[in-house]
Amino acid sequence: MHQMTLAEIARGLADKKFSSEELTKVLLARITQLDPQLNSFISLTEELALEQAKAADARRANGESGALLGAPIAHKDLFCTQGIRTSCGSKMLDNFKAPYDATVVAKLAAAGAVTLGKTNMDEFAMGSANESSWYGAVKNPWNLEHVPGGSSGGSAAAVAARLLPAATATDTGGSIRQPAAFTNLTGLKPTYGRVSRWGMIAYASSLDQGGPLARTAEDCAILLQGMAGFDQNDSTSIDEPVPDYSASLGDSLQGLRIGVPKEYFSAGLDPRIAELIQNSIQQLQKLGAVIKEISLPNMQHAIPAYYVIAPAEASSNLSRFDGVRFGHRCENPANLIDLYKRSRGEGFGAEVQRRIMVGAYALSAGYYDAYYLKAQKIRRLVKNDFMAAFNEVDVILGPTTPNPAWKLGAKNSDPVAAYLEDVYTITANLAGLPGLSMPAGFVDGLPVGVQLLAPYFQEGRLLNVAHQYQLNTDWHTRTPTGF
Ligand code: GLN
Repeated sequence: MHQMTLAEIARGLADKKFSSEELTKVLLARITQLDPQLNSFISLTEELALEQAKAADARRANGESGALLGAPIAHKDLFCTQGIRTSCGSKMLDNFKAPYDATVVAKLAAAGAVTLGKTNMDEFAMGSANESSWYGAVKNPWNLEHVPGGSSGGSAAAVAARLLPAATATDTGGSIRQPAAFTNLTGLKPTYGRVSRWGMIAYASSLDQGGPLARTAEDCAILLQGMAGFDQNDSTSIDEPVPDYSASLGDSLQGLRIGVPKEYFSAGLDPRIAELIQNSIQQLQKLGAVIKEISLPNMQHAIPAYYVIAPAEASSNLSRFDGVRFGHRCENPANLIDLYKRSRGEGFGAEVQRRIMVGAYALSAGYYDAYYLKAQKIRRLVKNDFMAAFNEVDVILGPTTPNPAWKLGAKNSDPVAAYLEDVYTITANLAGLPGLSMPAGFVDGLPVGVQLLAPYFQEGRLLNVAHQYQLNTDWHTRTPTGF
């Protein structure tokens, strides 16, 4: 039962082969049995799940239908869930029970999805390895000595290990696509503004975007359908109609123009990954796509720009965690300054503190023009590169990451080494574009992802290309041994 995709579950529920309650019980038991190896959940919500599953079964019995009605999912632990701990992977929010549901959580619940729990993540979504969580590192089901990627590592490991079919995640600089690549999943970061950020605890507000993590493009289409849409509670939400993402999955790729940036195949890319990307290009050519070499000349400036802008926004967003209104408060503060200092010093981990300091520095008088303003100018150049490229091509293709998942602890002493691994993903966040990662093969038994980028609001095109690719390849069907 646990091997089923969301699409298969939807069919099974519609055909009354099993009930949502039965499926939910099977998956909860599986999580209890197997998750101790992975640490992919921070909280399990068994009671809520069984309640939601029974309600979904009752709705179906009353004639309702829908692909998400009774479908088991989990939420990354930065989506606020009313009355349930929403920790953001941090000691700071270990005791925080959200007073309301995030829009994404409320929408999926209304569609009948069943929440099995809250998944582990890098603290405040800062990281690429899921090692900065206060709740401990998450392990990669493909090799328990390796990281699952981050920051949505819990959602990725849980779905890859077949603990559940799909989960929500967020992507500020790659945190949906990179863990998807590291765990053999399909993950989609939508266009900035497509999915509401209301109730999604902010890391870098101009970059953050929620999206689906699942095994197939077909399932990402189903989950995105339940997440996307205008929300007047989010001032950057865009009032643009949501297309039927499943309807375009079957479109032919005949004549699709795929751009391959020459800058992607530089020295930093593992040659074995480069070869797998070439194979995926050939596969898409067989399906009718036309390949064109393109250039993204400002790509090399994206990492430094991102690692100024993201920490700058984080330093501002995280100033609300001061020990006064919510979150961790130190014992016996001597005065207000002592309260702030010790509450924040005790509540935040090392990576979060590093980013707050970098961000506060970049925003401070005298350095603002030199760092923050310059980074914003680079951001525009990065966007302009994409706009020029999309005049010539429909989709841009390349690797999701330069290397496969590294060993736990391998980059802990050198944060910049981890930042450099984000080279292919962060440009989409800087430009606000949608991006998808899908399975493309293995290197040393570890999964490799191919990334597709598209113009604004062309999530349907990404899902279509990925679905056609998945109809003709079987990488996404491979299961990690032991799960
Ligand atoms: N690795 C990037 C960072 O640490 C991206 C994280 C994310 O997308 N949340 O900022």
